[in-house]
Amino acid sequence: MRARDVELLRRLRAACASFEPGALAIARLRCPFCGPSLLVRLNRDEHGVRCMRCGASVIHLSLGVALHAHMPDIAASDVYELSARGPLVAYLRRHARSLIVSEYLPEVPRGTHRNGVGSEDVQCLTFPDASFDLVTHTEVLEHVPDDSRAFRELRRVLRPGGVMLFTVPLHGAERTVERARLRDGATTHLLSPAYHGDPLRAGQRILVYRDYGRDIVGRLAEAGFTRALVHSVGVDFRLIKARNVIVAYAPNR
Ligand SMILES: [Zn+2]
Repeated sequence: MRARDVELLRRLRAACASFEPGALAIARLRCPFCGPSLLVRLNRDEHGVRCMRCGASVIHLSLGVALHAHMPDIAASDVYELSARGPLVAYLRRHARSLIVSEYLPEVPRGTHRNGVGSEDVQCLTFPDASFDLVTHTEVLEHVPDDSRAFRELRRVLRPGGVMLFTVPLHGAERTVERARLRDGATTHLLSPAYHGDPLRAGQRILVYRDYGRDIVGRLAEAGFTRALVHSVGVDFRLIKARNVIVAYAPNR
């Protein structure tokens, strides 16, 4: 079976498993990745609303809309995305000048590959300075123990004037709340532990280190980005509210 068919089957299985008949709804969608399509709501969870053609969730759809607004010349861009599959990766693979993808694979040495996927720790990337025009990631940084270090690394690998587009859950509060801390390999919980599902490992959960507030733009400025803003995606998806996308610019020189 081809990789694309395997992915389709995986998506179909996941859709059937999570289907709630009472939640079913369909709306027209102009998908930023695959064009005219339909949005289908399979259940009340945010991840249960998907583009019928490419499977993009509202997180990826929102990032796709922001991508078109902030990076119109994607064909001239060398891109780094911090995940190795899904509709955003498929789109970037088709349209960007080049694309590097990676996952956090603690069992695989950093900078090496397993099944074509690079192993990277965003707190300590193996890429040279100024390698990319665009960096993207979705729902990653809230799971990274030292996000200041990660933001500095992501800025380091961006070229002058390069752009980072990403999502994290934003809780509407002014200040970011640290939920947990990792020191010398030991985790201290400052609040009751919160977890998200692990997209790579079925049945596994990943710890949430913090709930980001609006001060995330200040955290990006501290990491050396010259401008950072929370982009309100001005598209009405009808079945679900668009996510805010964070846009940050590396210094011009
Ligand atoms: Zn689509």
